[in-house]
Amino acid sequence: MSQRPDRRYLPAAAISQQDPVVHRLFSLRFQREMFSQVEWGREYWYEMGRAAVLRRAGSRSYEQLGKAKNVVLLVADGLGVTTNTAARVYKGQRHGQTGEEASLAWDNFPALAMTKTYNLDAQIGESSACATALLCGVKANFETVGLDINGKFGNCASSFKSKVESLVSWAQQEGKATGIVTNTRVTHATPAAAYAHSASRYWEDDAKIPPLSRRACKDIARQLVEDDPGRNINVVFGGGRRHWMPKVATDPEQEKEEGRRLDGRNLIEDWLRDKKRRGIRAQYVWNKEQMDKIDPKNVDHVLGLFAYSHMDFDADRDKGPKGDPSLAEMTKKALSLLQKNSKGFFLLVESGRIDHAHHYNNPYRALDETLVLEEALLTVLESVDQSETLIVVTSDHSHVLTMGGLATPRGNPIFGVDTKVSDVDGLPYWTLLYGNGPGYTTPRAVPANLTGSEKNAVHSSAVPRQWATHGGEDVPAMAQGPLDLSLFSGTMDQTVIAHAIAYAACYPPYTYRCAVNGSTVPISTKLQNCAPEENSVLKGKPRGGRGGGVVLASSVMSEDDKTNVVAPSSSSVCALTSTMLFAVMYAVT
Ligand SMILES: [Zn+2]
Repeated sequence: MSQRPDRRYLPAAAISQQDPVVHRLFSLRFQREMFSQVEWGREYWYEMGRAAVLRRAGSRSYEQLGKAKNVVLLVADGLGVTTNTAARVYKGQRHGQTGEEASLAWDNFPALAMTKTYNLDAQIGESSACATALLCGVKANFETVGLDINGKFGNCASSFKSKVESLVSWAQQEGKATGIVTNTRVTHATPAAAYAHSASRYWEDDAKIPPLSRRACKDIARQLVEDDPGRNINVVFGGGRRHWMPKVATDPEQEKEEGRRLDGRNLIEDWLRDKKRRGIRAQYVWNKEQMDKIDPKNVDHVLGLFAYSHMDFDADRDKGPKGDPSLAEMTKKALSLLQKNSKGFFLLVESGRIDHAHHYNNPYRALDETLVLEEALLTVLESVDQSETLIVVTSDHSHVLTMGGLATPRGNPIFGVDTKVSDVDGLPYWTLLYGNGPGYTTPRAVPANLTGSEKNAVHSSAVPRQWATHGGEDVPAMAQGPLDLSLFSGTMDQTVIAHAIAYAACYPPYTYRCAVNGSTVPISTKLQNCAPEENSVLKGKPRGGRGGGVVLASSVMSEDDKTNVVAPSSSSVCALTSTMLFAVMYAVT
């Protein structure tokens, strides 16, 4: 049984391949056009993603590869390799070990890839554009959400035709249940990329949108309540009530705080009203006790907003019934609802505050929040059928944390100092240091190294900044479950993760994989030998704007001036080759 592919996802080359007459006209002229059209728009990233996935999957059939019924994507916001290593040592030391030999739960995953986290116009990525890459498979401009290259920061009109679909919308199109669990605001950068399209990550409520754009562009919270796929997400857990309440309303927990909406709307009530109107059993909760009482048998959609802004760092969390659930507790409850869907589910879990602690140069909370994600993962591993659930743990970008010492002994306290003092100034130094951030002092800070003081310690940085920047190096992606070793390997772009997940779970644009009677088309040797985004440097020149300018990884913490740098145009032979080969594949199927 063969099925014609959905033309929405077909490259022009594939359409021409379906028709021999058009195909003859196509050939050289189209090739020429393709070279000029490959400008890092969504088609480019779709082609790159497909090529990377197909190169890894090879010619193996559907029967050989199988399919992921469920997907859990866990995002450690701001986790780089150093954070990973240090968190592992911290975990071991918390259990009375020396630490280095310990393992994080994802250390045991069979598949590992390194991913590139730059944004279209920024060498060092930030969360919303990185999350767009991760969740939509398309690289984005700095501080935009759910938009392709045509979405320009702060430009409302640029978002109209640049919207890209996410794994959440793809999962919903396949009838899956969907959920988002985070300890940041649910409208914050990473979760927003799962359902929203915004020219600015800061447009979490209408007050942040410039007055002239308020009618034309919906804020992120409203998109979650009113638009697809946001309004269809079964479970939304996190913080950020302030973006849901009107200015006249006071917060139920922080009574001195009021809502931030200028349109007078209470979106929590609107969310409940929409579900009632559609005959959906829905519930809203805002503390741990209320969440614990949710009976999955009686409810299908849940909104949990547990904090006025971000949820507290776990080290500071009120763990009582009137307090807030942990990330693991939210994940467990979310799974109990999502697992009711016989077609499977897609769940995004974010430990979003690793990043914030690093911005403060506070490694204690950063490592603690990493272990918070591990606890959530352990809950997932306990709760799901691992044979049919693809679990991916990755990060959106790194941070400027370093871990260094000279002859530092095994078991040296991870928040402590090196055993030898500096051979220049004769003073002790922490083994965990930062490249920049608020930890800079002159003369440099001398760590006290007293047990118990590490929780609030701000470690030294080399360069003063109010908030530390992100790091630009590759971050790891670990996978376990169906197609893990087949898809997650080598160095790949962050966008490939979305394609790999969609391929494994047979979401659009890869539904054909599970719909062609189990057969896949062999990939030609040419494509296998062509490594477009991985081994080649794409040649191009900056065009327009102030090409070559510097973009600062300001992220959530400051409002640094943004330099609008347009990505270079590309003429990758591999991009065209993969298009052509993909076209052949479609034509055959
Ligand atoms: Zn950040």
